[in-house]
Amino acid sequence: MGLPVHLSVKLGSYLLKQKIRGVKKFPMLVEIEPLFACNLECAGCGKIQQPHDILKKRMSVEQAVAAVEECGAPMVSLAGGEPLMHKQIDVIVEELLKRKKFIVLCTNAVLLPKHLHKFKPNKNFAWMVHIDGLEARHDESVSKEGVFQQAIEAVRLAKAAGFQVYTNSTFFDLDSPQDVIDVLDYLNDDLKVDRMQISPGYAYEKAPDQDRFLGVTQTRELFSKVFEGGRRKKWRLNHSPLYLDFLEGKRDFECTPWGIPSYSLLGWQKPCYLMADGYAQTYQELLDTTDWDAFGRGKDPRCDNCMAHCGYEPTAVFATMGSLTQSLRALGS
Ligand code: SF4
Ligand code: SF4
Repeated sequence: MGLPVHLSVKLGSYLLKQKIRGVKKFPMLVEIEPLFACNLECAGCGKIQQPHDILKKRMSVEQAVAAVEECGAPMVSLAGGEPLMHKQIDVIVEELLKRKKFIVLCTNAVLLPKHLHKFKPNKNFAWMVHIDGLEARHDESVSKEGVFQQAIEAVRLAKAAGFQVYTNSTFFDLDSPQDVIDVLDYLNDDLKVDRMQISPGYAYEKAPDQDRFLGVTQTRELFSKVFEGGRRKKWRLNHSPLYLDFLEGKRDFECTPWGIPSYSLLGWQKPCYLMADGYAQTYQELLDTTDWDAFGRGKDPRCDNCMAHCGYEPTAVFATMGSLTQSLRALGS
């Protein structure tokens, strides 16, 4: 399953405009991290390892909106940290909706019931709830018992209130193909979330537990088994078919790190959401001052095991939009 139709049209017309204008590098989606603080301490998370003075800081509404406007991306992912700990996150969402952006708000959902009343359902807004596995596995992943049940209740509450709810699940080397199948079946068929995003865990330099991340071969083996028997088609996955082909090893792509840039309290992160080789003040400065040819598999050892959505989904989407057959496949799958 590709993007929702209204979003495919929005993205398609944006990509066409870039092509007509001859723009070579532009963002498809921007990740905004308006804070690094979080109410959980997940084992694989590098964000909460920031120093205390940075964890206390919050990005202003104006700064978040200005970053989105400057880069021009049609889609925005509000992440963190836990965005619901930002007192004006609802205002940031409102301002971005006024600017016709499509927004996903990434959350561990613990605070969602408390803050739900501040938001209104909108076809351009979706919650993206972090769920890494079924109960024991998810609670282990977030290093706290009871969080899975809290997240499930929050998803039900948000869906009952008319919101679109997506999920984001990150898988590590302790996850068997059956573990992945079980959680995706549960989210798709029982909880009936609108869309599911899946990520092979990336070894952030700041992540405390470096042993559990998947290599490229492991990722391909895992997803080829997970997708066996046509399961891929029945799940409402929030990815282009070509990115899913890439995950299971049917295609290979170059990374396109400027396609999903990341802007945080520290600036525009170089070269991507996963690595921090410095920061630029503007998206244009990020484009102009990053040596893009230095990154990707075989060029930088830190990229060798990366198959992350933020680097490879843009490549897959650009390949989809450049091919009529793939575009039809994305719309029909
Ligand atoms: S919920 Fe997200 S931001 Fe918070 S600790 Fe876990 S992975 Fe990090
Ligand atoms: S391969 Fe991964 S880590 Fe390397 S630049 Fe691309 S997205 Fe970033």
